[in-house]
Amino acid sequence: MTYIITEPCVNVKDGACIDVCPVDCIYTTPDTNQMFIAPDECIDCAACEPVCPVAAIFAEDQTPANMKQYVPLNYNFFKGKDMNELKELTRAAPRKVNEAH
Ligand code: SF4
Repeated sequence: MTYIITEPCVNVKDGACIDVCPVDCIYTTPDTNQMFIAPDECIDCAACEPVCPVAAIFAEDQTPANMKQYVPLNYNFFKGKDMNELKELTRAAPRKVNEAH
C-alpha cells in the first residue's frame, strides 16, 4: 500500500510531511501544485498524516470517495521520472513550512 496526498494540498504545499517522512519518499517540483508520495518507497508508517495542516493525506485504501482521482494521479506522477532528479527538484521547491521561519 501507500499513502496518497489529495486535493487540500493543491496550491498549499505546506511541506510538513516532508520533514517527518523517515524514508524521504514525498516529492514535488517547483512547477507542480502539490506534493506526491512515491508508492514504491512509502513504508506506510503514517507519520505524515497527522502533521498535514490541511488533512490532505490518507492511506490509499481510506482515500475518500470524492478524492479517489488522486490515487492514479499520485502513481502517475512518478512514471518515467528520474528519482535522483526528483529529489533535487523537491529540495528546490518552495514550501509554506519554510516561509514561516
Ligand atoms: Fe513517508 Fe510514512 Fe507518509 Fe509513507 S506514510 S509518505 S513513509 S511519512
